[in-house]
Amino acid sequence: MSVGLLVVGSIALDSVATPFGVTADAPGGSAVFFSAAGTILHPVQIVGVIGSDYPLGALKALEARGVDLSGVERAAGESFRWKAKYSYDLSSRETLDTRLGVFAQFRPKLPEKFRDARYVFLGNIDPELQLGVLDQVKQPALVACDTMNYWIHSKRDLLLELLRHIDILMVNDAEARELSGDWNIYRAAHWVLEHGPRMTVIKQGEHGALLVNHDTTFKVPAYPLQEVFDPTGAGDAFAGGFMAYLASTDDVSLANLRRAMVYGAAMGSFAVEAFGVEGLAGVTLDDVRARVRAFKQLVHFDLDEGKPA
Ligand code: AMP
Repeated sequence: MSVGLLVVGSIALDSVATPFGVTADAPGGSAVFFSAAGTILHPVQIVGVIGSDYPLGALKALEARGVDLSGVERAAGESFRWKAKYSYDLSSRETLDTRLGVFAQFRPKLPEKFRDARYVFLGNIDPELQLGVLDQVKQPALVACDTMNYWIHSKRDLLLELLRHIDILMVNDAEARELSGDWNIYRAAHWVLEHGPRMTVIKQGEHGALLVNHDTTFKVPAYPLQEVFDPTGAGDAFAGGFMAYLASTDDVSLANLRRAMVYGAAMGSFAVEAFGVEGLAGVTLDDVRARVRAFKQLVHFDLDEGKPA
């Protein structure tokens, strides 16, 4: 039996505008993007809630690809909705509306078989729910956690409490700056290390991602794409690739964490090539492996063995 990989996060209906198009109520959310990427490498178990208006087709498609939906509750009411607009160069986005809907009342209850999960990703959602899920997992090997400005502002104390119980905080550069109050990204990463986690992963969009622990810093670039349509979910797809690679190898050595960073970056690059979760639906394991090899090529260089002096 493969080791358990569990995610809790939003299961959303996204309305997103980029310079290349718009979506309205498209299936998305942190748990959905995570699973769509992760399941290419390893089976994923989702915990979350949907409202009575959520189209089941999107989730059924994930189920067909190896995602276990038995921790997804369907509640009376509206699904989580998020509306955002990207800048012309896709480097920043503005949240126009966040409606929690059924997530406001949600109290996660893990199916018994999910409690043995060894790899746990607390995807972007209310830190209270993240803590609620973590409490129910018996003995995880590695717990990583994401968050967003929305929660940094509204639930900072709970978020700081959560930091004391996780191994890796995985956030984007703006979130790391907001949380730490430090504009310097390396200092921000170390601020996180002083608050509990033993590692920080900082996603930097088109500038790649960093893995920082007390002793080392590792950097993976972003894959050089000439066409980017929709950055939504790239961070969650990164997390899905990172965590699913760790689960599939069941190895948390630093060397393997570095490889996991590259699998994460590969998944992030597939996610942004199309609108919504569609970019990930047709991606095969061979596609991922080919992209990981391309990353190796991208950063490889030989030392000149002493020349010039
Ligand atoms: P990313 O682009 O990786 O930061 O993730 C975008 C996804 O996060 C979208 O699919 C949204 O539905 C979801 N999202 C946005 N805001 C929140 C929030 N406050 N809590 C949970 N999920 C959110």
